[in-house]
This record gives sequence, structure tokens and C-alpha cells, in this order.
Amino acid sequence: MASIRIEGVTKRFGNVVAVDDLDLEIHDKEFLVLLGPSGCGKSTTLNIIAGLEDMNEGNIYFDDQIVNFLPPHRRDVAMVFQSYALYPHKSVYDNIAFGLRMRRFNRQEIDRLVKHAADRLEISHLLQRRPHELSGGQRQRVALGRAIVRQPAVFLMDEPLSNLDAALRVSMRAEIKRLHQTMQTTFVYVTHDQAEALTLADRIVVLKDGVAQQTGTPDDIYQRPCSMFVASFLGSPQMNFLRGSLKKEGDRVLFCRGGFSLDFPSAMARKLVGHAGQEVVLGIRPEDVDERTNSPTANCLHGRVNFTLSIGSDQYLSVQAEGVELFFRVGRDTRCADGDSVAIAVATDRLHVFDKETTQSLLW
Ligand code: ATP
Repeated sequence: MASIRIEGVTKRFGNVVAVDDLDLEIHDKEFLVLLGPSGCGKSTTLNIIAGLEDMNEGNIYFDDQIVNFLPPHRRDVAMVFQSYALYPHKSVYDNIAFGLRMRRFNRQEIDRLVKHAADRLEISHLLQRRPHELSGGQRQRVALGRAIVRQPAVFLMDEPLSNLDAALRVSMRAEIKRLHQTMQTTFVYVTHDQAEALTLADRIVVLKDGVAQQTGTPDDIYQRPCSMFVASFLGSPQMNFLRGSLKKEGDRVLFCRGGFSLDFPSAMARKLVGHAGQEVVLGIRPEDVDERTNSPTANCLHGRVNFTLSIGSDQYLSVQAEGVELFFRVGRDTRCADGDSVAIAVATDRLHVFDKETTQSLLW
């Protein structure tokens, strides 16, 4: 059992501030994902938790005990890396058993734990092989097995799936999720893959330049992003952005861009009315629309289809509207063809509005 508290942690490499005054509480048994673009400080944060990296300022607590000066092997953590880090000359069995032998577990106990882990990860038939005789997915299972047998208080995972192909990544994601459910242990997981973060996490921390931008459940972060950076980092295709201004008309608040306007629902209008007259950026998620070729209604964007892309379950539409290219995700039965005129009905209760200067959300 372990909760982790990161308090005012800063890490500098020369002039580079990799982690900048980070505060974070990771709850016991939580699956917390550190998400962000390359170089945002995810791995450095994980390494500091593991004790593999010193920090310049701040404190790390495990269950209210400061562990700043505890070496990695005394922190009761197990790490799984992208590179698997298996011993090439040892068999799968010996790779998994290695940590237990170092801790002087007896032979029967080692055998029981290794076989149990192998069984759980469905690699029992591979125990006598060497790492070079395994596929990437099988190697990553061995790396997971080595971590599981330790029964650590905390699992730290640094992009463990990024060397795998797309299909295997999806199935290993489910595997890791199940592992977390059965092990009832704290997981801290680093990834730059927003889909991985959304599917695995209890909570996500979005990092940029070593600073936490937003912390919340996947729904919080996806549905109520606090800034254009967070909004654009999650979701595929990305959220569409459209510059314009807010206008008050009686009780209504409108987004206006040239001759185009959208009418916000009253709950949103109440939050936005104080910003009337302000230049803003409107955010529309590609899926929060409905395409209507024949029956345009209010709150519709009118445009021309540049091209359509089928992804099997859905189609993406690239639409030229209001002078910009916008991407929408519509059902697979859409009958749009390149060059068609379309009216795109916008789900106004799902709109996002950002301050043009600060790029922060005006809604949440
Ligand atoms: P990636 O997804 O590419 O692994 P990351 O988000 O994990 O990136 P970090 O590896 O934590 O990022 O690096 C954060 C910043 O610190 C980057 O600018 C990186 O270049 C820098 N950095 C990391 N390790 C070192 C080091 N040992 N020496 C100098 N700079 C470093």
C-alpha cells in the first residue's frame, strides 16, 4: 500500500528545467498517468519517484514518509521500461526470478511466484527461452512478470508499450488495466499517447515544460480542458479552433466570426456574458457535430467538403468553412463526396471557448 506526494519538486539539467515546482498527490491503488509531449518532464518525474534521479528542490513522500534520500531498492517500487531491459543471456524464468534471488527468497517460493506470474501473463510456455527468441509483446510480458513477482507497493511504467505494434499495444493496454485491477497497487504510468492515457488512467496529469497543466479524470480532461494546449493534446483528430468574438444580444451570448454566429446554451452564456466583446478562440471537437446535407438549421457551419477519409467505423470530413479547414468525424453512412456543399450542425452544449491571449478556457 502506498500513496505518493510530490511537493514542490524541481529538477534542472544545466539551464533546462525538466520539472518545475511540481505538486502532485497520487492516491493509494490509483492508476495515475503522466501525459505530455516529448521533453515535458514525464520520465524525469518518474525517475525522481523511483529514486533514480536526484532533485534540486522539493520532497517526495511515500505514505507520509519522506523518501528523498532513500535509494531505489529501498523504496519498494518496480519499474517497467520501454526497452524491456531484460538480461539477454538469461532465460525468461531466470529473468523473472532474478530480483527474488537477489532478495534471497527460497527456491520453492521463487518457483511458485515465477510460475504464477508467467501463468497470469500467459507466458508459461516460454520460460526456457532467451529474450532474443521472443516477440516484442512477449518480451514486454517478461518485463511485466519481473515487476509483478516483486509485489511492490508501487509500479512505475515508462512508455512500456511504445515499442509494440498498434494491435498489440491495444491488447497489452487491456492486460495492464487488468493487472492493476487484480494487483490493487499504485501505478504511475508515463506516456505521450493520449489514447493510452484515456483508456488506462483513473487520473491523468498533463505536463508541459515540466509544469502540470491539468490534473483530472479522463472525462474531466477530455470534456473540460482548461487550456488550448490540453484541448489539442487529447483527441484525434484534434479539436478544431476558430477565432472570433463574443457578442451579447439580450439574454443570449453569441460567438461571431464574419457573418457566421453560434448561440450558446444558457448555462454557458451565463459563464461567458462577462467576456462579451472579447476576442476568443472557439473549440469544436470533430465528433461534436452532425452533418446535414439537406436540412441546415440554426447553429450550422456551412462549407465545402475538401475530402473524406474512411476509417471503417467512421468517416472524417475535411471541410473548408469560414476561411479555415476544419475536421469532423461523422458516421460511416455519410453520403458526402469531395466538393459537396455541407451544413454541419454544431452541438453547442459541447463547445469550448478560450481566451485568445492567455489560451485558457473561459468555461472551466
Ligand atoms: P520523452 O517522451 O521524449 O521521453 P519526457 O517527457 O520523458 O520526454 P524527460 O526525459 O523527462 O522528458 O526530459 C525533460 C527535459 O530534460 C528535456 O528537455 C530533456 O532534454 C532534459 N533532460 C532529461 N534528462 C537529461 C539529462 N540527463 N541531461 C540533460 N538534460 C536532460
